[in-house]
Amino acid sequence: MKLDHIGIAVKKLEISDKLFSKLLNRVPFKTETIVSESVKTSFYHTGESKIELLEPTNEDSPIAKFLNKKGEGIHHIAFEVDDIEKEINRLEKEGFSFVGEKIRIGNNQKRIAFLHPKQSNGVLIELCEKK
Ligand code: ZN
Repeated sequence: MKLDHIGIAVKKLEISDKLFSKLLNRVPFKTETIVSESVKTSFYHTGESKIELLEPTNEDSPIAKFLNKKGEGIHHIAFEVDDIEKEINRLEKEGFSFVGEKIRIGNNQKRIAFLHPKQSNGVLIELCEKK
């Protein structure tokens, strides 16, 4: 597994994009709305890994719920895997469980899955499959 990106929940992408563009001294290489996940995202290259900013597009969005509960901040850490089904099987055998629908479609039409944070020290872990 390789660290692919760190997801940060933000209230207003427009404001946070300005902040992160200054901080990282670059503009996002991609902005994408994922309707099924009710989020709008921006991605920044940071060496081998990326930073993903996530703004909720409605109140039912998991990001809206996260912001209401915890405020802005790190939402998840994503690891890239070669074969998501194989990795899910392996992790289930190790006793991990997954949040909601096991395999979903995320950014870039990549197949993704989220591990339950209760089993990973409170950190939400995303698996994203290499394309
Ligand atoms: Zn992510």
